[in-house]
Amino acid sequence: MKQSTLFTKTQKQSPKEAVSASHRFLVQGGFIDMLMAGVYTYLPLGWQVITKITNIIREEMNATGAQEMLMPALQPKGIWEETGRWASLAEIMYQFKDRSGKEAGLAATHEEVIYDLVRRNINSYRELPFAIYQIQNKFRNELRAKGGIIRGREFMMKDLYSFHLEQADLDRYYQQLIEAYQNVYRRCGLESKVVEASGGVFTQNYSHEFQVISEAGEDKIIFCSDCAYGQNTEITKFKVGDICPKCGGRLEEGKSIEVGNIFQFGDKYAKEMNGYATDEQGQKKPILMASYGIGISRLVATIVEAHHDQKGIIWPENVAPYQAHLLSLGENGQAEKIYDQLKKRGVAVLYDDRDISVGAKLADADLIGIPWRLVVSKKTGVKIELKERSAQSVELLALSELVKKIFNK
Ligand code: ATP
Ligand code: MG
Repeated sequence: MKQSTLFTKTQKQSPKEAVSASHRFLVQGGFIDMLMAGVYTYLPLGWQVITKITNIIREEMNATGAQEMLMPALQPKGIWEETGRWASLAEIMYQFKDRSGKEAGLAATHEEVIYDLVRRNINSYRELPFAIYQIQNKFRNELRAKGGIIRGREFMMKDLYSFHLEQADLDRYYQQLIEAYQNVYRRCGLESKVVEASGGVFTQNYSHEFQVISEAGEDKIIFCSDCAYGQNTEITKFKVGDICPKCGGRLEEGKSIEVGNIFQFGDKYAKEMNGYATDEQGQKKPILMASYGIGISRLVATIVEAHHDQKGIIWPENVAPYQAHLLSLGENGQAEKIYDQLKKRGVAVLYDDRDISVGAKLADADLIGIPWRLVVSKKTGVKIELKERSAQSVELLALSELVKKIFNK
């Protein structure tokens, strides 16, 4: 990709209201653009990152046997009334009348839609268990949507729903998803804590939140620094310095960002929306459900919170918008050739071919944060100066050495 044609340009000024590094760098670097408070466009660079993340999520969800589909964001009032959530979510859900006077709402979540679909299609133990997921925007009328894409009014979520006849089967899959979630966050360059939190109104059990320790977080958790265990301070009876019940380490307290949340609903939806299937003995049994969410757009911001310095973002390789950032600094023609050769070898490269100052190019490279910077200048001749975004030192390499060393090509 030639940077001279990239939509959009980087910005010198940080957004006035920006308090977090992720808000600032994602806007200034040209990853996101605000349309109104809490509503953002993912620009081409941002979309590259989202695509990397959603590919990781799809791989991990598919590996558990889940199937991907897509449900409507525009939803009728009726199904929401069955569970009482039309009223209880009235503040957070966008609700309105259409031209014919029918009431509808925008998806804040999808339990009602998926459960309606399941009760109309599943009748027998032979069709269970199964899991369905989608990647889609959710809409929530959030009061505090100020910090970029950490909290949006329209935001991207991966939501997965699993259906079972037996509680033991649900427990097994739930455990499997905890591991899949930890894989997702690890592959995105984040260390996540599996945090016990209130089950809300649905169950006496805990729900589990996936939290990343960060000063930019709105949650507070007690967590173990030796293992992934944690509890939300909203429910915990632990104190700082107590022994971790999982591994015997010491518990600490810190702010954190909730990047995922999973719940067991048990038979709540079966009862409220009348979802039953027959077991092997021909007995009618409730179809149990659990829900599993990952905040994808919030995850983008969380990665930036965890990986930046004062100059900009330092993307982990797995989620970087491009693998390499090639900079042409006052030379004639050599960089263009290297760009073509890198493309031929299948390296995803952003090529800064713009006619601007050296300082501006270097500053933009640090801001955008692609993991490998390749500089071609009068000094480098036929070689390339290689620098890792996270490191200080540079190295002069021939193209063949370079692609073997860092891209395995
Ligand atoms: P929060 O407590 O932060 O408001 P929540 O508990 O209401 O979130 P869930 O219903 O559990 O959110 O949604 C699943 C995931 O979606 C969350 O763990 C979070 O990562 C993400 N998410 C929720 N609300 C938002 C939002 N307004 N903007 C961006 N991501 C969000
Ligand atoms: Mg939650």
